[in-house]
Amino acid sequence: MQRAGVDALLVSVGSDLPYLTGYEAMPLERLTMLVVPRDGDATLVIPRLEAPRVAEHPDVFTLRAWGELEDPVAIVAQLVGRPRVAAVGDTMWARFLVELLGHWPTDGTTYVRSTTVMNDLRMCKDAAEIAALQAAGAAADRVAAQLHAGDIPLLGRTEAAVSADISARLIAEGHDVVNFAIVAAGENAASPHHHPGERVIREGDIVLCDFGGTKDGYCSDITRCVALGEPAAEIAEAYAVLHEAQAAGVAAGVVGAACQDVDRASRRVIAAAGYGDHFIHRTGHGIGMEAHEDPYMVEGNALPIAPGHAFSVEPGIYLPGRWGMRLEDIVVATEQGPLSMNFADHALVTLG
Ligand code: ZN
Ligand code: ZN
Ligand code: ZN
Repeated sequence: MQRAGVDALLVSVGSDLPYLTGYEAMPLERLTMLVVPRDGDATLVIPRLEAPRVAEHPDVFTLRAWGELEDPVAIVAQLVGRPRVAAVGDTMWARFLVELLGHWPTDGTTYVRSTTVMNDLRMCKDAAEIAALQAAGAAADRVAAQLHAGDIPLLGRTEAAVSADISARLIAEGHDVVNFAIVAAGENAASPHHHPGERVIREGDIVLCDFGGTKDGYCSDITRCVALGEPAAEIAEAYAVLHEAQAAGVAAGVVGAACQDVDRASRRVIAAAGYGDHFIHRTGHGIGMEAHEDPYMVEGNALPIAPGHAFSVEPGIYLPGRWGMRLEDIVVATEQGPLSMNFADHALVTLG
C-alpha cells in the first residue's frame, strides 16, 4: 500500500477477501468489507448474522459485527477517517461505493482499483497455489480424456445435455463448483462463448467443449474439440494451424517476455495461414481464484511475465455460420520455462 500510495484498502465480495482472510462472503446486499488502513490494524466489517462463519485471525484482522439497524458504510468511514487515496475492490457493489462517495467526496479522496495493491500479490502464484492449479487442471484433464475416449455420448444429444454431463463429471472428478461448460456444435462453435442449447449433435460436426470449475479455491479451464466422423480437409488443415498456434503461444510464455508476446506468437501462426480475421479474441487470461483475472495475454499488455504467473493460452478460429475451433491449456511461467497444467491430447480426436 505504501508503494502504491494507497491510504485505505477496502475489499468486499470477490476473491481478494478469501485471498487475504480465508473467508468467502456471500455476495448479498448486506455489506461485508475488510478495511485495511495503511498505518493501522485491519478490521472485517461483517453482518452480525454472518459473523459465526468467520474463523478469526486476531493477528491479521479483528471483527466488527454490525447489527441490522446500523449503517455499515458509516462504520467503514469511521474506521478509516478520511483517506487521500482509497483502493476499492472491482466487485464491490456499486451501491456501497455510491454511499462511500457521500462520506468521502472526490474533492478530498481519490479512488483507485484494489488491483493496484492486490495484483502483485495475486498474480504470482506460490507453490501451494500452483499445486492447487495442477490438481484442478488434472481433474479437468480427466473429463477431457473421457470426452476423447467416447465415454461422453455426443451423437443425437443436445449441446445442453452434453454440457450437463460434462458438469457432473467435473464435480465427480473433484471440483467443488462448475464455472462453465460450453458445448458448441457445428456452426454454433463460431460463437466463442456460445450458450449450450437444443442443437442436436450430428455426424459431420466438430464439437467445441470449453469447461472448468473451482477445486479447493483454484480454477481449471480447458478447451478441446472433437470431430464426429472424418473431418473435411479444410477443417483438418485449420486445426493443424490452430494446434501450431497454441504451441507457439505456450512456448512464448517465458519469464521476462511480455504478456502481449504470447498473443503475438499465436496470432502470427493463424494470420500466416490466412485466418487472421477469424481469430477474434485475445489469446489468454490469467487464472487463479478467479477463472479470468490478471494478467491478460493481449496486444498492448507489455507487463513482463514473472515466475508464478498463471494464464491460459487459447487461440481460436471462427467461421461464422460454418464452424469454430479453439484449443486451450493453462500454463504457469517458471524459471525453467512454461509449466502446463493440462496434458489432455491436443489432437482433433475423431469419434463415431
Ligand atoms: Zn472464454
Ligand atoms: Zn476456457
Ligand atoms: Zn479460458
